[in-house]
Amino acid sequence: MDTVMSREIRLKRRPVGTPTEADITLFEVSVRKPGKGEILVRNLYMSVDPYMRGRMMDRKSYIPPFQIGAVLEGGAVGQVVASEGGPFAKGDYVLSMLGWREYFVSDGSGLRKVDPTIAPIQAYLGVLGLTGFTAYVGLLEIGRPKAGDTVFVSAASGAVGSMVCQIAKLKGCRVVGSAGSDEKVAWLAEEAGIDAAFNYKRTPDLIEELGKHCQKGIDVYYENVGGDHLVAALEHMNPFGRIVLCGLISQYNATEPVPGPVNFAQILVKRLTLQGFVVGDHFDKLSRFTPEMSKWIKEGKIKWKETVVDGLENAPAAFIGLFEGKNFGKMLVKLAPDTDPILL
Ligand code: NDP
Repeated sequence: MDTVMSREIRLKRRPVGTPTEADITLFEVSVRKPGKGEILVRNLYMSVDPYMRGRMMDRKSYIPPFQIGAVLEGGAVGQVVASEGGPFAKGDYVLSMLGWREYFVSDGSGLRKVDPTIAPIQAYLGVLGLTGFTAYVGLLEIGRPKAGDTVFVSAASGAVGSMVCQIAKLKGCRVVGSAGSDEKVAWLAEEAGIDAAFNYKRTPDLIEELGKHCQKGIDVYYENVGGDHLVAALEHMNPFGRIVLCGLISQYNATEPVPGPVNFAQILVKRLTLQGFVVGDHFDKLSRFTPEMSKWIKEGKIKWKETVVDGLENAPAAFIGLFEGKNFGKMLVKLAPDTDPILL
């Protein structure tokens, strides 16, 4: 074997508004065989995430933009299919930021071995990965909920939101969530076990609806969405409440600057703390998160949903689907069979 045929997805042009499949396109490439001290990895699952939309824009942010013509990056779990004395053995499962491609050669830098006996390998992109960690660190470090607090979560059935809801329940909070379909709302109430959930798409007045579910006000708002959701939450926040600014997905595709909430003054009069955070600043807490989340999983205390799209060629549609609520829980793309991958 001298080379392996692989496919990868590159940024063709910077999207304006909602991305389209013409902005991100598939290429076929040949990947060289690993040299001494290197491994060849076949990706099995990759993650598509809302933050990738921000990286498609040419602007200064906490992470550099994707370059036009370059292969995209993102979380992936793969299997080592060849090792030339590299840092991992043939058959090992590894986590990388080298998604959006089927195969890659590596000297092991930035790769981490994952244990398939704790949870299915794709869980390292979701509940046991950056998704679960974002929920954990955002809620516990920034939101600082106390038992008995009311926690409101937007995009509550999504990958991060569904973890926030369940961690807040484990910490003794009363949890209210909003989501974009009746099926998602039913899962939140019946499976995730939260106290109240509603379909924001069927709600003529978000402020009124939220008030019905939060009669004692909101102590912690875990913000994934922005816009009307932030306005409604501000109306019902209790004095000295905390707003965890995790994401603002409703405005990622905006083509004009988005104004702040009309009731911004609520932050002053209620003496609220609104804090943005980026998960990458908190890696020092991973050593607490991983054992605690693994224990909850083992005890059956955390449930999760996945939407799995097959094939790299469908990754652009999976990514775009995040902005239409097409995912229920973690959106993943399956790149190859995980049961019996071909070891070269
Ligand atoms: P999700 O799994 O939650 O998927 C996105 C969901 O957002 C959709 O399923 C949809 O659910 C909802 N949504 C999409 N557009 C809108 C809209 N216009 N209004 C309201 N809801 C909308 O994604 P993630 O869990 O990966 O991410 C959730 C949030 O967390 C995002 O904002 C993301 O950017 C942020 N994030 C931040 C990180 C950080 O370090 N700060 C790290 C990781 C994620 P529905 O059907 O309910 O509408």
